[in-house]
Amino acid sequence: MKSNNELCRYVPSMMLFLLFEAVAVTLWLTKDNLFYLLNFSYIGGCLGMGTALFTAGKRYARRFVQLAVGSYMLIYLGVISRENMQIEGFWYYLFLGVFEAATIHYAVAKIFGPLLFGRGWCGYACWTAMVLDFLPYKQPQKPRKEKLGILRYVMFALSLALVSGLFLMKVAHLEQIMFWLFLAGDALYYIAGFVFAYLFKDNRAFCKYLCPVTVFLKPGSYFSLLRVHCDEDKCIHCGKCLRVCPMNVEVNKESRKRKNGTECILCYECTKVCPTKALH
Ligand code: SF4
Ligand code: SF4
Ligand code: SF4
Repeated sequence: MKSNNELCRYVPSMMLFLLFEAVAVTLWLTKDNLFYLLNFSYIGGCLGMGTALFTAGKRYARRFVQLAVGSYMLIYLGVISRENMQIEGFWYYLFLGVFEAATIHYAVAKIFGPLLFGRGWCGYACWTAMVLDFLPYKQPQKPRKEKLGILRYVMFALSLALVSGLFLMKVAHLEQIMFWLFLAGDALYYIAGFVFAYLFKDNRAFCKYLCPVTVFLKPGSYFSLLRVHCDEDKCIHCGKCLRVCPMNVEVNKESRKRKNGTECILCYECTKVCPTKALH
């Protein structure tokens, strides 16, 4: 039988599940729609189970959550339910003044959520990265091109201009167009993601340079409650954490101003390799 201490290690997983349950029940009751109960219960269940697997030392824990949540969102919400969950979908529902689907998704996962769990979305739920993470360059093979980060703002502005343009021109069958835009946008993301990964020998090059969603993700991530801490007194500057980090985070500094600090996807690869347990 497991000791009480051992079971206590799973309390954060249970808390995470209960947090999502609270969102699920609140939205179910306030919006009188059973979908919210099922949707957030499923996502919370996956996250709770994934973090429990992580606590149990299973190396596949993050990939399990990423595939379970990412494919559900892409296939069920996107393709079957025909909801545009890309950034264009967010603008679309926002301009319609509707607080559902993509607007709720963005508010929870990408705008306010990062204050609690940083870029957890990017490590555990994104359906674009879910596929890109299968490519061979898990650890970046080339130095990061900081200046290319400007491209994310170009993509952000283009997505806003595209949806604004469609509204201003009062285009007919907009709902249908948004669904096709979702499929086309996804295909484009995957193609660009593959090209960038091979070009820069880095699976996450798309995330670093092109992804417009990071414009929302970064500000909240800076203040994130959940983050990797470094006990600098224990650090022997071996550089292992820096080499293994897929996002080039200067994680051997404790400050929130650490280089690329808002890029951390909470994959915890760095904590696994630190020989002095300086990272936690
Ligand atoms: S940066 Fe963009 S593509 Fe990469 S994981 Fe985050 S949301 Fe997905
Ligand atoms: S390796 Fe560490 S610092 Fe880098 S993204 Fe993963 S958790 Fe964050
Ligand atoms: S792996 Fe640990 S000891 Fe090595 S540089 Fe990183 S924090 Fe310091």
